[in-house]
Amino acid sequence: MFRSPRGVEIKKPEQLLQMRAAGLVVAKALAETSAAVRPGISTAELDAIAADVIAGAGATPSFLGYGAVRGVGGFPGVTCISINDEVVHGIPGDRVLKEGDLVSIDCGAVVNGWHGDSAQTVFVGTPSAEDAGLSEATRMAMWHGVAAATLGGHVGDISAAVESYVRGLEQGYGIVEEYVGHGIGSAMHQPPDVPNVGKPGRGPRIVEGLALAVEPMLTRGAPGNSVLADDWTVVTDDGRPAAHWEHTMTVTRTGIWVLTADDGGEEMLAAFGAPFGPLAD
Ligand code: MG
Ligand code: MG
Repeated sequence: MFRSPRGVEIKKPEQLLQMRAAGLVVAKALAETSAAVRPGISTAELDAIAADVIAGAGATPSFLGYGAVRGVGGFPGVTCISINDEVVHGIPGDRVLKEGDLVSIDCGAVVNGWHGDSAQTVFVGTPSAEDAGLSEATRMAMWHGVAAATLGGHVGDISAAVESYVRGLEQGYGIVEEYVGHGIGSAMHQPPDVPNVGKPGRGPRIVEGLALAVEPMLTRGAPGNSVLADDWTVVTDDGRPAAHWEHTMTVTRTGIWVLTADDGGEEMLAAFGAPFGPLAD
């Protein structure tokens, strides 16, 4: 019905089913990792839990070695674990979690060459009301973006839905703009970018077979950020906390299908009055 936007990988239904399989592996890895979050556990221990889930499912991690040049370097973890003022791309290691920490866990897995990518923010024990509000705003911003996707619509519809929801909140959260959502499929990061600010009707068309990662990053202060000397960890410049939520999704002829949500997004999409459109196995 609509011509495919240039440079965008269009997935066949059987390929989307592979991405669903990858998405369910990621969902399980995030659920088990998040459930293990407690005072005294190290981020390396959390990373090992995700690694076990991915290996146990016969999948491979998307993140490990990401960005390597001729096999050298690259991201050293299976997850990115970003704590408090860390926005994204935190490296799992010796850091030990303590009561009240805000922990964003991002994970990707590959099944038969097809990727899934998802992130969530959880807390060690009981969060402050301000941190809980930040995470909930980020989660809802993600869902506003996901629910705004329609066939024949534009990527900008997603961006605008994320931005207008956040700008409409009483609290003035910062929207990180340097890092964005993305196309996903046979690689974790593909065109098109999915910014978290934008205007409806702009950007590439949303067509059947397009898969996107929608991933707002919000801060409790200013959105300005920097990369630490480890070349990965992104931190807020003002030291205020940040939250990160992400799902991988596609739009079928019948509606939206959230590939990294256990229920495919059915419950949240219903709350938004958006059509749920899973493909049958
Ligand atoms: Mg991710
Ligand atoms: Mg992503």
